[in-house]
Amino acid sequence: MPTIAENNTVAAEGYAAASLEVTGIELAFGTNKVLRGVDLAVPAGRTACVIGPSGSGKSTLLRAVNRLIEPDAGDVKLGGESVLKGNPDELRRRIGMVFQHFNLFPHKTVLENITLPLRKIKKLGPEEARTAALEQLELVGLSNKAPARPGNLSGGQQQRVAIARALAMKPEVMLFDEATSALDPELVKGVLGLMADLAQAGMTMVVVTHEMGFAREVADQVAFMDHGVVVESGVPEQIFTAAESPRLRQFLSQVL
Ligand code: ADP
Ligand code: MG
Repeated sequence: MPTIAENNTVAAEGYAAASLEVTGIELAFGTNKVLRGVDLAVPAGRTACVIGPSGSGKSTLLRAVNRLIEPDAGDVKLGGESVLKGNPDELRRRIGMVFQHFNLFPHKTVLENITLPLRKIKKLGPEEARTAALEQLELVGLSNKAPARPGNLSGGQQQRVAIARALAMKPEVMLFDEATSALDPELVKGVLGLMADLAQAGMTMVVVTHEMGFAREVADQVAFMDHGVVVESGVPEQIFTAAESPRLRQFLSQVL
């Protein structure tokens, strides 16, 4: 069974990875100002990991980037072009997102879970969608699970399906929100491995994670968020061995 690691198919397929530039993003829920001017720039093909305490606004940031919640201020640029004013569906075609709890449709098969957005959002015909979906399933090593229901798969396999579903849309950027937090410990490594392969293959990625090992090894850049802002960012070496901000130092002392 070929996987991304074995044949680097993702790169061979030539995803059109784009740069992502987030500037001055602000977002409030009522009086709760959750994002207070977030800046994050990820060059095309690079991986940024976002770390920080619970409630610091990491999930809200990812949701604002693909406009699941509209930010109050700031800008998001994809490949240098502002995407906050155009059609949000168009944006979601270009940015793939993977959630902690997979968000697969339980009553549909694995294959249908992947073909559905291809049909509905990308408007592919049934055969085209099926071919594209099977291709992605093969890539994540789950071709044999096409007819299964998500409930009959392990958490790790379900998350691979969710990743395949996002990749099938041929996104220019992938966002991961604690993609391994809901998995049993023995399943975490496989999913992180798949994400590392994707990073290696040149996808642009923003990865919210508590997996400091992953951040250290895979990220080109690590951003530490606290209270709705990026407090400090830099290469992993800088963040993990020479953090400047006291809040980051304190956070690292708790999680490392
Ligand atoms: P993190 O992902 O870093 O743990 P979140 O972005 O989930 O943080 O949450 C940041 C803050 O925004 C929290 O105070 C949370 O309660 C609040 N929040 C998140 N989503 C909503 C929502 N849909 N409605 C109201 N408040 C929310
Ligand atoms: Mg979160």
